[in-house]
Amino acid sequence: MARARALAAEGIGGVEDLLWWLPFRYEDRSHPAPVGSLKADVWACVRGTLLAVRGRRTGRKGVHLTEGLLSDDTGTIHVVWFNQPWLAQSLETGTEIFAYGKVSLFATRQGNRLQLDSPEVEKIGTTSGENAHADRIVPVYRKLASLTSKQIRTVMFKLVSRGLALPDALPARLLGEEALPERSGAFAAIHFPGAGISVEDLERRSTPGQRRLILEELLGHQWILARSKAQRAAVEGVVIGKMPRTGAFLRSILPFHLTEAQRRALREIFDDLAGPSPMYRLLHGDVGSGKTIVAFLAMAACAHQGSQAAFMAPTEVLASQQALRLRELLSGTSFDVALLTAAVKGKAREETLAGLASGKISLVVGTHSLFQEKVDYARLGLVVIDEQHRFGVEQRARLVAKGANPNVLVMTATPIPRSLAMTLYGDLDLSVLDELPPGRLPIVTAVRGEESRHRMEAFLRGEMDSGGQVFVVFPLVEESETLDIRAASEAFTRFQAGPFRGYPAALLHGKMSAKAKDGVVDEVRRGRVKLLVATTVVEVGVDLPEASAMVVEHAERFGLAQLHQLRGRVGRGGQKGYCILMHSPSASPEALERLAVLEKMKSGFDVAEADLLLRGGGDPSGVRQWGGGSFRIANPARDFDMLERARTWASRLAAPDFPWEPAEKERFLAWADGWQSRLGSYSRIG
Ligand code: ADP
Ligand code: MG
Repeated sequence: MARARALAAEGIGGVEDLLWWLPFRYEDRSHPAPVGSLKADVWACVRGTLLAVRGRRTGRKGVHLTEGLLSDDTGTIHVVWFNQPWLAQSLETGTEIFAYGKVSLFATRQGNRLQLDSPEVEKIGTTSGENAHADRIVPVYRKLASLTSKQIRTVMFKLVSRGLALPDALPARLLGEEALPERSGAFAAIHFPGAGISVEDLERRSTPGQRRLILEELLGHQWILARSKAQRAAVEGVVIGKMPRTGAFLRSILPFHLTEAQRRALREIFDDLAGPSPMYRLLHGDVGSGKTIVAFLAMAACAHQGSQAAFMAPTEVLASQQALRLRELLSGTSFDVALLTAAVKGKAREETLAGLASGKISLVVGTHSLFQEKVDYARLGLVVIDEQHRFGVEQRARLVAKGANPNVLVMTATPIPRSLAMTLYGDLDLSVLDELPPGRLPIVTAVRGEESRHRMEAFLRGEMDSGGQVFVVFPLVEESETLDIRAASEAFTRFQAGPFRGYPAALLHGKMSAKAKDGVVDEVRRGRVKLLVATTVVEVGVDLPEASAMVVEHAERFGLAQLHQLRGRVGRGGQKGYCILMHSPSASPEALERLAVLEKMKSGFDVAEADLLLRGGGDPSGVRQWGGGSFRIANPARDFDMLERARTWASRLAAPDFPWEPAEKERFLAWADGWQSRLGSYSRIG
């Protein structure tokens, strides 16, 4: 019971949940090795008879030692276990066992001898005649509640040997055409792979059982995306027509010539806005590619035609900054821009809310506050969501419930390969800015270690002396934000006392009040602050045109995509930008190899592709998050071929002429509904 409760706390409520606790790796314990062939430093599975077993206490520290001799036709080897006194009882002389462990060289007075250290053992011939822990490729699990890998394996083995009878959500026709096993078989084969499957296949996630579950997950995801796209096409949105006077208005406020890519994106957006159903478009482009002006022009067009547009930024700092930029753009016009964040209170807030409800305010910039309950819009025509924001099915439903069904433009600089974006964000249409505005010099990126700290500091002083501003960024390293902030503020104090004494400096972090943050950003923008020390929480996305150099501390703790976004924040004023990635002494060779990618590559798309290659399929925290963390085995980047198949199947199954068996259809739809709730609040971006 206690165990059941502990499992429930981990979200494991039944057999199926438990089966989804998939092995994170496998050990090849098939083909027992002949004892005579064993070599030191190799992991081996041995099948043999125990010749002698005895336990004893040793030495001063009172370590309990169990020793045995294991023998087969080819030889005999010593076996030792530490602090497992019960073994001597349960393993009698003459027992036939499998033992899996590491062979080591042990020095004795008579010379070196081989021994098997603390092997996992299992008696041969358990009830089923099969062994769970040896004589096969065995699954290794992450701990679950208090259960060890071996205990989980025992439970799984019982489940699987009893025979699984899970209902299958996928139609037989799909499984037939794809030559994939049904669900029960897939789970059984993933937990206890059969003959003919190698550990390499399993690690590549290329076995039929794994591919079956991967396809299942991706199909659930694609199905929901396709359905929400279809539903949207059926509703009416706010139409922003292509009127000549609006065009003239937009041209009159343009501060510069748009790039070809910006013009193309705008055409796509205006086509959507003029169509009857609401737009749902992803504007995808590298940092600095000029997404903001594209979004602002679409907002201005909305306002010009009498409807409202809202811009949602991920943080308060960014919201006030974007509000400023939008005001600048519209300074010569009659349009006002309101700001709505949690920090806007009292009378100002009431006025803004009243203005939005009456339609008097047509343009508003804010945070998630924009879509809270008390906020009503008279005629919301366009919502722009800036970088990395959560705006999923749920938020959208909330807006629709308020009678608004606005056009939506999502902007992201998350560098993902284009082909992948198309499929992953299957319900969004895609516009890409694949060109930087003219005159931007590439950012020089360098990876450096502690030995270069003094040189780095001298370089920063030089930059400041010649009029530049510099950033020092600290990652979220510790468990708690408070600790991170302490790391940043300690460094700040050290800087002011030591290498950067006398330089006007400021600290910016996530726990500061919105007002204090705005104050700092403002000081930096005015050039009064030369050195800005920041935690990434607030820093990502802050646009400081005069910043010419950025130092990232503990750079190895960041993802490449995030580092790429960070470095895009410097050198925006037309001068050359520098990004110095400081790594800790403890950074692994792999981490350094990853960082080196940024020294070589400039384009976010290239960085993304390299990142995927280097990370391979192993990283559970990276790409997999794109499904809102809802994928348990699928990894859209690795399983790209399956993703395409899932997409094809989603549309085949949705087609009116798919030859469904009625019972199968019912099961499939019920299962797909489960996916809807899993994806209900997922974040599409970032
Ligand atoms: P991002 O895509 O990262 O959001 P921004 O929209 O912030 O990029 O643009 C980066 C900088 O480039 C801004 O200072 C912006 O004013 C400028 N910019 C954008 N488009 C152009 C253009 N076509 N010509 C010149 N400068 C531009
Ligand atoms: Mg931006």
